[in-house]
Amino acid sequence: MSMIYLDYNATTPVLPEAQAATADALARAWGNPSSAHAAGRAAAEVLTTARGQIASAVGVPTDTVTFVSGATEAINHAVHAAGPGRVLVSAVEHPAVLEATRLRPGRKLELLPVDGWGQVDVAEVLSRVDAGPAALVAIMAANNETGVLNPVDELVEPLRERGVLFLVDAVQMAGKLPVTARPDYLVLAAHKLGGPKGIGALITRPGAKVPALIAGGGQERGVRGGTEPIPAIAGFGAAMAVVEATRDAEAVRLAELRDRLQVGLLAALPGAEAVGAKAPRLPNTLCMLLPSGAQGAAMVTACDAEGVAISAGSACHAGEIRASRVLRQMGYTPDEAVRAVRISLGPATTAAHIDLVLELIPRLVA
Ligand code: PLP
Repeated sequence: MSMIYLDYNATTPVLPEAQAATADALARAWGNPSSAHAAGRAAAEVLTTARGQIASAVGVPTDTVTFVSGATEAINHAVHAAGPGRVLVSAVEHPAVLEATRLRPGRKLELLPVDGWGQVDVAEVLSRVDAGPAALVAIMAANNETGVLNPVDELVEPLRERGVLFLVDAVQMAGKLPVTARPDYLVLAAHKLGGPKGIGALITRPGAKVPALIAGGGQERGVRGGTEPIPAIAGFGAAMAVVEATRDAEAVRLAELRDRLQVGLLAALPGAEAVGAKAPRLPNTLCMLLPSGAQGAAMVTACDAEGVAISAGSACHAGEIRASRVLRQMGYTPDEAVRAVRISLGPATTAAHIDLVLELIPRLVA
């Protein structure tokens, strides 16, 4: 498949190191890690290595890392663990957080407003928390549509002092920038950082109680039952090790490419706007409103026909274009929000890819 892939925030190609680790585990570590024989030990060793790779990349103790099926499951664990009560959630949070909260009995969802960049305000969050007892606050470290960062590090201590549990979705930040916040619950997904799908991690504060959401055979310290998917876990650990080793250099390289793309598109497309560009952002993400008259979803289709994969800030449900909820919460009108495209870069992105997009998108708009 020859394609220029610029949709890394949706998912990533599996890194060769992760493919190799997964293939090796499939061939060699097929045992049940709970078994007390050589085949079991081989699998347990892979599990231990991968857990160590995740823990050391984030800088947390290994026994705080619980392997789960992905970010959505990790988020459901946290919402379950927090118990009933008010759940304060940033207005730009991933649907996994909103829906997990809506589904679980006794959770009362309240949206925390964001500004025009899509960021929560620390004082505003705390004043809402102080308005009454709260079970959980959930704020993403970086937004998947805009790349805009939230001040989650600043909220850890004040929320802890108030006895309110804090969930940070670090799915988009991990592997792109250092994840330094130490909330009660931290969420990672392998497939956003070069690992396979179907595996992620819930990182809990040391000593935090995590009642089992998926009860079973006591795996993962009783937090998450089910025989561990060793091949996926091996790929996750290997991918994490690679992206951590290359993270700082990649952040500089990708920010340069992204900024060149942003400047070039703004120059070529009068009336276009770079969303969240004045806020701190992930180095790899550009969310751009095309000039009026153009539509994000149509641009995605047109780019696809030319072999370039990008994404729209809108979703198409049964033929009807719906404006991005995230951009709407940031104050954009529906007409503006349907003009959004998201271009997200990664390890395989080159300057030649950016040059090609700088020629392609203005041509397609015209
Ligand atoms: N959180 C964020 C910020 C995401 O971007 C995603 C994936 O789109 C998720 C959570 C959910 O991840 P998954 O579908 O892999 O469980």
